[in-house]
Amino acid sequence: MLAIYLTQVTPTCSVPARGDYPRDLGEFERRFATAEACRTYLVQLRWPEGVRCPHCGGGKLWPVRQVLCQCAACGHQTSVTAGTIFQDTRTPLPTWFRAMWWVTNQKTGVSALGLQRALGLRSYKTAWAWLHKLRRAMVRPRRDRLTGWVEVDETFVGGVHPGRRGRQTETKALVGVAVQIEGRRLGRIRLQRLLNASGPSLLQFVQDAIEPGSHVHTDGWVGYDPLRRHGYKHRITYLEGQAKTASQLMPHVHQVASLLKRWLLGTHHGAVTHEHLDYYLDEFTFRFNRRHSRSRGKLFYRLVQQAVAVPPAPYESLVKYARMP
Ligand SMILES: [Zn+2]
Repeated sequence: MLAIYLTQVTPTCSVPARGDYPRDLGEFERRFATAEACRTYLVQLRWPEGVRCPHCGGGKLWPVRQVLCQCAACGHQTSVTAGTIFQDTRTPLPTWFRAMWWVTNQKTGVSALGLQRALGLRSYKTAWAWLHKLRRAMVRPRRDRLTGWVEVDETFVGGVHPGRRGRQTETKALVGVAVQIEGRRLGRIRLQRLLNASGPSLLQFVQDAIEPGSHVHTDGWVGYDPLRRHGYKHRITYLEGQAKTASQLMPHVHQVASLLKRWLLGTHHGAVTHEHLDYYLDEFTFRFNRRHSRSRGKLFYRLVQQAVAVPPAPYESLVKYARMP
């Protein structure tokens, strides 16, 4: 039985990585119609140097069922999805792939309802959980920090009452915004939810987002005072007493902040809880930093690549703070 099985299946677990991605929907559909094809792609992106048996080190592995690779030498089975966001999924891989293709091809992002409709999923809860799992894969582990010239500011999102600086309000969340400036253009960004606008909180954000030695441009808020002591070249623009507005004096961060707010209101109707905000910020950053990418297929490639590089997020941990509609 096993012998017959092995002769019928090509050893896809050992296919070398090509580092490529589908260019359009037709190519995507032709390529990822079967679980085997999806598994091959996951193997290639997860083990670009080639998959090896963790038990005996053997380099010859056969595909078994949907997500397993079995070592030809010792018989040990390795799961392609274990330790990734697809761990323990009962959904066929092609459905996951369609979700990732759809998510990366919507320029402004997607809502759970949109994903549910696009894939014909019966449950809204499933669509919601999938989106959250995928958002976790939108941040590359150990990603590079911003460098060169970087504008930094904080902004309040959510709620309707304007907050006062330096203190957290009930209805609004404070978000740190860092924008790398490339000539006159906006470069990469980093966003992070902040506890408050105190010195330690802002310093933590800057250290997470920006390489020391970079030029950091902020307004005159006292919370930014520690930057110079921590190896940053700090340029301050005092907003008080200026004829120009804050958005004219620091146009780049203000532009990003207003795009973020418009996105939260538009795509998500402002219905983002503080507890989940970080993941939405990650999604916005993922799309923003790749907005000039000519191929949506490349975004798909990045998302799949990161989906096999981040640990799984069990449903219980996702819904801990959720307010289901
Ligand atoms: Zn082995």
